[in-house]
Amino acid sequence: MNDCLKAIAPDTTFRFACSPAVACFNECCQDLNQFLYPYDILRLKKRLGLSSVEFLERYTTRHIGPESGLPIVALKAAAAERLTCPFVTQKGCRVYPDRPASCRTYPLVRAISRNRETGEVNERFMLLKEPHCSGFDAPTAQTVSQWTNNQEIGIYNHFNDQLLDIIRLKNQLRPGPLDLKARHLFYVALYDLDRFRNQMINNKLLDNIDVEPQKLADAKADDTALLEVGMEWVKQVLFKMQRFRGSGFKGSRV
Ligand code: SF4
Ligand code: SF4
Repeated sequence: MNDCLKAIAPDTTFRFACSPAVACFNECCQDLNQFLYPYDILRLKKRLGLSSVEFLERYTTRHIGPESGLPIVALKAAAAERLTCPFVTQKGCRVYPDRPASCRTYPLVRAISRNRETGEVNERFMLLKEPHCSGFDAPTAQTVSQWTNNQEIGIYNHFNDQLLDIIRLKNQLRPGPLDLKARHLFYVALYDLDRFRNQMINNKLLDNIDVEPQKLADAKADDTALLEVGMEWVKQVLFKMQRFRGSGFKGSRV
């Protein structure tokens, strides 16, 4: 394991604070290696007043995961020599209220496992104490739980955990690369939400999906409801997963 990473319990206190006063201000927004989850994109495009197509074209790169064969979306660096985040300014992060999950969680790292019987998510945290970060010299202390609550990470984890479930089950059911059409549909349903909304409304894409009618109605105007619907569509229609015990999904080979 990375020497900088140490396991930390939810009720354990750690010292950390970040502000423009620190000597290393903005250092962590260089050397960008930032993957984006669907909910990150939903929040960022809204903050920037862009459609999902515009956001994806302007700010992201896409490649195919070697094991899953699924599209992986990452932030495109603004300055090649230092791989600077496109959203960092001299005053700090210009998308701060809608920054991605990994920026919110830092200096913690979250890992999850899911109970196969109950579907319950068990989460573990590690503290990433990097030498260049002087935030650990601050007098301010908080527990892991206080930190995650203050950073409003819950809604991000809700969607990110669902994505990890989808990928895990996809790897069981359809190991290896997807065909081009399935890969494109996966990308549109989860990452290119405005296009998915248009296709959903124009092409009756959701005729065979088991989703509450109210959620479908909300999805016509609300991106969060739309992402819930997109994830259900990927599970139920694209990957043909079956519900179990009301809370999760399992695979069925077809
Ligand atoms: S204190 Fe850490 S988190 Fe804050 S700017 Fe410096 S490197 Fe980044
Ligand atoms: S999104 Fe904001 S906090 Fe995250 S790397 Fe970019 S500038 Fe830094």
